[in-house]
Amino acid sequence: MSYVYEVLSAEFDVTAYFYNPNIMPADEYVVRLNELTSYSRQRGFPLIIEEPDVKSWVHAVKDHKYSGERSERCWICYEVRLEKTFIKAKELGFEVVATALSISPHKNVTKINEIGIRLSRKYGIHFYASDFKKNDGVKKSVEMSKKNNFYRQNYCGCIYSKLERNSESGWSKKSREHRLKNTPLAQIDDEAVEIPFTDTIDLHHFHPADTEILVNHFLDNAVQKKFASVRIIHGKGKSVKKRDVYKILKSHPKVISFRDDSVNWGATLVDLLLHEDAV
Ligand code: SF4
Repeated sequence: MSYVYEVLSAEFDVTAYFYNPNIMPADEYVVRLNELTSYSRQRGFPLIIEEPDVKSWVHAVKDHKYSGERSERCWICYEVRLEKTFIKAKELGFEVVATALSISPHKNVTKINEIGIRLSRKYGIHFYASDFKKNDGVKKSVEMSKKNNFYRQNYCGCIYSKLERNSESGWSKKSREHRLKNTPLAQIDDEAVEIPFTDTIDLHHFHPADTEILVNHFLDNAVQKKFASVRIIHGKGKSVKKRDVYKILKSHPKVISFRDDSVNWGATLVDLLLHEDAV
């Protein structure tokens, strides 16, 4: 927030508005609010604090609670908070609304700006569409936080995102299963879950706990796309990932055979059964 304030205050008279019914639990909410309060005092800008309507927020996202970060759950969350900001801006006669959301590398800037522009039309107030990550925004923001000894959050805000930090928790497993079951691949946010639409999957991008679910999903998808042969990159040597991959391949009903990739010894080539009568 501090970096975003510094950028905006070069152009505007800034008033900050804190409406975050998503931040849980209560002690985390208090810590984040206190940080902003002390920064607003230090820099001398007004801060409006809105009572969080947690019940309405939970109700708004309830059907998507297992959808993970950068999903419908977050689009709703952005909208709930941004709409409240526009309502307050209208009430107080402000000319422009901006949001610090886009400074986060975990947020979808396209969605944020889409929602902002839609609300701008609805309330007749200009929206400052931005991506504060640009021009080394994240780096500058981190440096500023360190310099000022600011608290740095280690999860987005809602209790779901806190639980999702532990990729091996029961919540995360349920969430992964839910996403893979309910989201057509084409609709998965490709910056969040990088399952490529090619004949190769590189497991270096993923946590070992996700190997089973990802490889099975990748193989099913490859069969659907009629890839007779695919490559799974797991790393060289006797890696845990390679061992897990072999275990999955041995039991997958569509795998005919598999072998080390002679060009890349950190990968396994897999032949797939595309038609039941092909053997
Ligand atoms: S992960 Fe962040 S943006 Fe998404 S719903 Fe939770 S608090 Fe909102």
